[in-house]
Amino acid sequence: MSHPVPIPPPVDCIVVGAGLSGLCTARGLARAGVDFAVLEARGRVGGRILSRAARSNPQARYDLGPAWVWPSFQPLATALLAELGIPLFAQATAGAGLYEDDGQPAPLRIDGQSPHGESRRIAGGASTLVEALATELPPKTLHLEHTVTHIEAHPKGVALDVRTPEGPRTWQARHVVLALPPRLAVTEIAFDPPLAGDIRTRLAAIPTWMAAHAKLIALYEQPFWRNHGLSGEVFSRRGPLTEIYDASPADGGPYALFGFYGLPAAARRALGRDTLIQRGIDQIARLFGTQAGDPIECMLQDWSTSLRTATRMDEIPPSGHPQYGFNDIGRSQWDGRLLFAGTESAARNGGYLEGAVEAAMETLELIAKPDRIR
Ligand SMILES: Cc1cc2nc3c(=O)[nH]c(=O)nc-3n(C[C@H](O)[C@H](O)[C@H](O)COP(=O)(O)OP(=O)(O)OC[C@H]3O[C@@H](n4cnc5c(N)ncnc54)[C@H](O)[C@@H]3O)c2cc1C
Repeated sequence: MSHPVPIPPPVDCIVVGAGLSGLCTARGLARAGVDFAVLEARGRVGGRILSRAARSNPQARYDLGPAWVWPSFQPLATALLAELGIPLFAQATAGAGLYEDDGQPAPLRIDGQSPHGESRRIAGGASTLVEALATELPPKTLHLEHTVTHIEAHPKGVALDVRTPEGPRTWQARHVVLALPPRLAVTEIAFDPPLAGDIRTRLAAIPTWMAAHAKLIALYEQPFWRNHGLSGEVFSRRGPLTEIYDASPADGGPYALFGFYGLPAAARRALGRDTLIQRGIDQIARLFGTQAGDPIECMLQDWSTSLRTATRMDEIPPSGHPQYGFNDIGRSQWDGRLLFAGTESAARNGGYLEGAVEAAMETLELIAKPDRIR
């Protein structure tokens, strides 16, 4: 005898994506007493926020996604962290930086002010923020490993086709909030009826911030660079890492350096994971000495291969920080049944953690005051 497939009860609002923007939206809905569900494709919360523990010390976590908050011009993210009781600490910048150029026999030592004097890091790693938000949600509202594949408009709401470990499910709601990169949303999700006019093309043209990038973190027993009067900060035109910074926890070790690769996604793929890591470590050893060539652990995160962040279109990064925001597109479609959050939809701070919070707040305002929907 076959068992009937359970149909999830309809809710007022479904949030797609449990990154920072989706979780902030969900938190606001919970506070407003709205009945909601969060559907997240990955088996974890956080999206581009990802902190991983050292094998030798589970308390020490390292940021493979965002690492920095700038309190002086990111008031929303800073206030949220304070409200959740999550401390910040200063990015380690004491000491000299290094600069290396092609054809230069040795790196230049740069004594002077670091551009990261104002940068702050989140104690315990940036995942502490999304974990705290997820913990606050009412029971059974967060559904991991739920991938939304199709959204259909009905006269009174929407129906979502969702892939789950238990098989396909259909969810129904009055509104759906897409809290994921717009390019990913229109590539991975089918809309019925199709989005009006050239909206789909315009959403697909919005680059997903940092989706083209890869980060290497090398862990060490000792912060030997500090002992040599170095901050760990490097700007390199030689590569493969173009920028390197101290990524050590607030207190104690393992101590760490992290770097962004300058190689394009296709070149990284061609090299393969092990060679990519080795080339990064060889560069760190070239800069900081043989000790640096023998890390106790390496972590590599290539966001361009992460299917829940990047599409093939994201392999080439934008040349600068794009002018984000949905001013022309509008934050809602289908008469307010389909809404957008996600950092790329934020006009003032799009791309950043601040933008993810900003977008969630604007979307919540629209849900609370539907007369503002155009
Ligand atoms: C390497 C790197 C470094 C960065 N550094 C900084 C920094 O120092 N400071 C800063 O402010 N910002 C930084 N950022 C940007 C910051 O991470 C983002 O602004 C922020 O995390 C975006 O949050 P979001 O919720 O809008 O999107 P995301 O985090 O992308 O969340 C979207 C969520 O939707 C889910 N999803 C996708 N498709 C589906 C589907 N079909 N169904 C259900 N769920 C789906 C995803 O799994 C994900 O959880 C960095 C990003 C990266 C990658």
